[in-house]
Amino acid sequence: MMRGMSNPFTSDPHAAAQTDAAQSACVPAAGALPVPALPGLDSERIATLSRLCNPIWIFDIDASRVHWANEAALGVWRSPSLAELTTRDLGKDMSESVARRLRQYQLDFASSDARFSELWTLYPRGIPRTMRVMFSGIRLDDGRVAMLCEALGEQQADPETLRSAEALLHTPVMITLYDQRGVALYRNPAARHDVASASSMLQQHFADASEGAGFVNALRSDGSALQLCRVNSAAGERWHRISARRCRDAVSGHEAWLFSEIDVSDLKRVEAHANYLAMHDSLTGLPNRHFIERTFRERIDELRPTGKQATLIFIDLDNFKKINDSLGHTAGDQLLLVMAGRLREAVGGNDLVARLGGDEFMMFASSDDAATTAHVLCQRLLKIIAQPLKLGHHEVTVTASMGVALYPRDSNDLGALMRQADLAMYSAKDAGGGTLAFYCESMLAKAQSRLTLEIELQRALDRREFVLHYQPRHDVITDRVVGVEALVRWNHPQRGLVAPVEFIPACEETGLIVPLGEQVLMQAVDCLARWQRSGIVATVAVNLSPRQFSNSALIASLRRAIDTSGCDPTGLELEITESVLLGNDAATLKLVHDLRALGCGVTVDDFGTGYSNLAYLQRIPLTCLKVDRSFVAQAAPTRPLAEVIIALGHMLGLRVVAEGVETEEQLQWLRTTSCDEFQGFLRAPALTAAELERYITGHAPA
Ligand code: C2E
Ligand code: CA
Ligand code: CA
Repeated sequence: MMRGMSNPFTSDPHAAAQTDAAQSACVPAAGALPVPALPGLDSERIATLSRLCNPIWIFDIDASRVHWANEAALGVWRSPSLAELTTRDLGKDMSESVARRLRQYQLDFASSDARFSELWTLYPRGIPRTMRVMFSGIRLDDGRVAMLCEALGEQQADPETLRSAEALLHTPVMITLYDQRGVALYRNPAARHDVASASSMLQQHFADASEGAGFVNALRSDGSALQLCRVNSAAGERWHRISARRCRDAVSGHEAWLFSEIDVSDLKRVEAHANYLAMHDSLTGLPNRHFIERTFRERIDELRPTGKQATLIFIDLDNFKKINDSLGHTAGDQLLLVMAGRLREAVGGNDLVARLGGDEFMMFASSDDAATTAHVLCQRLLKIIAQPLKLGHHEVTVTASMGVALYPRDSNDLGALMRQADLAMYSAKDAGGGTLAFYCESMLAKAQSRLTLEIELQRALDRREFVLHYQPRHDVITDRVVGVEALVRWNHPQRGLVAPVEFIPACEETGLIVPLGEQVLMQAVDCLARWQRSGIVATVAVNLSPRQFSNSALIASLRRAIDTSGCDPTGLELEITESVLLGNDAATLKLVHDLRALGCGVTVDDFGTGYSNLAYLQRIPLTCLKVDRSFVAQAAPTRPLAEVIIALGHMLGLRVVAEGVETEEQLQWLRTTSCDEFQGFLRAPALTAAELERYITGHAPA
């Protein structure tokens, strides 16, 4: 306890205050003794003051100058004359805390005619003098409030006391001593500055009265308390970190409470902002994934005892990437903003909408009948989303795919519900987009078998289970084998040979197509090199998937494969689909040029099944066109589309190959066209390398 210790918070004669102003200033430490009125300054009063023996001076707070002083005060200030003293600028070296305190006094004088007695340390010409000074307000002729100071006598204070008082004066920590009724017995300048009125009570300090009561109870029972609280300050409501402890008032000996407070409002604001940022998406301002994880879960917990149901909807915009790629990212952002606004408007008061990232959103709605709510809500969302909007000069219409999971029907766990809604969304995407799907168990089974396939494919790559078969390509006129197409198979340890349709799409989606493509290329060029050396086959065609084609490492890995195998690259043809050629024009053009520069040929596979825009055919330096099997399969006698394609290919100077020739009739018809080559089951399916070698050596040219 503080009994018996020197207590700097009372009007104890030891208590002193000192200023760091070079020449003077005034520092208070005592309670106010109210006087009836604020006296004015007139000549009669000046004359009276002049006659008093104690040093007396009037300090003009606004101007930071002595306004008037009697003879004795000139002595204290070491000034030869009043004229000289009034020229001294005492504000020059005054600290901000002293200046602030003086302004506070000025207000207190004007409002309550206060009078104070304190120990001050003045610095006349830089030499410290500690004296007890009585001061009060006085009105100057022009109506402003100044400070009338009377030095009562010199005091000796020990350095420790002087310095501790100094520290108390300057600290930004707000220190207040309250009695048990909550009356402030003392406030340091920082604390005084923070409260609206000097007479403000502890009870008024807390913005939340019950929080205040709890704090005081803790203080009473434990002897100390520490808490972050909202308080009422002169500047309005603020956050303070309040630390308080029980002590004794050194003047009365009664129990008192010492409060130390710091203003942490700025920290609180930063914290609140950081919290907001962590929980919200910066582009749309919608809550983000972290928010979902916390708030959606809380909502579900709230629902549990009520028996209510909830709908979780996963929303993914269709073809967003296309818009981003074709109209630019700014337009993409704008689109997301508009969609976020629409979704926000579409949710009811208690429901939630959040952005998961990219073009994915999530919605949460509670109701008595989740399935019906989901139907109604999704139909509304599909309509709202599909309304046309303007992005720059373009008017676009966007659709979305939605997946729905229901609580508690599908699961009562948020994580599981999110995964289910996600799976359902993919199923809506598979159905062509612009629609919704409700989660069902078969989706999970499908996703699981897809995952198993992915793991198996990775293992198959590591174990080099992929093998190439080669389908011969014949000259239409001579029937001679002029080349082969390499077609990959998975030599599965249990299932035997697996056809590419069963694994190429999964490899495409997962990106495994890139390492698979590399293995295919290596095998193909090795065979090509061998066959070129033995003169069996001069040309091998290899299929490239869109994903491989857009992989920047393609050219380098191709060059490596060619160099390692020692094949003649002019015998290597790469087959790409039309969709690839319609992608990014400049990049595609460069890649085809690079392939050609390596010496390779470039073929458009499955020609005629893709897009109708043929402009690329002229721009891109292709070498060969493959007429899709479906055109060859058309009923005899005329196959007009195939004939047009063959003619088109020749007009562009390309070689033309017909695929999927299965009958003699088809071959006879081909001979009536100018088609260069054909491949198909009529002659041979895709064969192993050894089978192919036997096939060629045994195949008699026509
Ligand atoms: P594609 O490039 O159009 O290959 C031709 C497909 O038609 C092959 O099927 C071939 O076996 C089949 N075919 C050949 N002649 C006939 C015929 O007379 N009648 C019928 N009905 N079909 C015939 P396969 O080997 O199952 O390959 C299917 C597709 O898988 C290929 O179509 C190609 O798009 C892809 N693919 C195959 N190997 C690779 C590869 O190494 N890399 C990539 N990215 N894709 C490949
Ligand atoms: Ca092909
Ligand atoms: Ca083809």
